[in-house]
Amino acid sequence: MSIFRADRKFERFEDVTPELLKDEGVKLLLCDLDNTLRLHSEKEPADELQDWVEDCKKAGVKIVIISNNGRKKMMRKFCKPIGVDCVWWAKKPLSKKLTAAMKTYNVSPENSVMLGDKWSTDVLAAKAAKIRAWKVEHRKDII
Ligand SMILES: [Mg+2]
Repeated sequence: MSIFRADRKFERFEDVTPELLKDEGVKLLLCDLDNTLRLHSEKEPADELQDWVEDCKKAGVKIVIISNNGRKKMMRKFCKPIGVDCVWWAKKPLSKKLTAAMKTYNVSPENSVMLGDKWSTDVLAAKAAKIRAWKVEHRKDII
């Protein structure tokens, strides 16, 4: 398992389907927020995101947002309506918050995945935590 490569690549978060998560034995999906689950400019969760989170929950997958974004109030406000826990100021590529989440939700590294758009933070943090790194294309705001 090279630290230089994501274990799987997807175009968007919706491509990570509940069926795939089940097939891959994923019980805890740690997700980056900015440019992964939302565009930086999005203030509220998009309908696609709400639907996806619901479907993942129904499949028994716990989603926790692990972001380097330090805006605690904004993060809470964004995550509350979709009913997911969030960790802000996570300091990825450090793996401390990923490991802490696995401990909190009592899920083993084998059943955990980190999903994010950035190699230098998300992929490296996953490798440091010895879990699978799944990468989505970086979503850009269209100006
Ligand atoms: Mg990101």
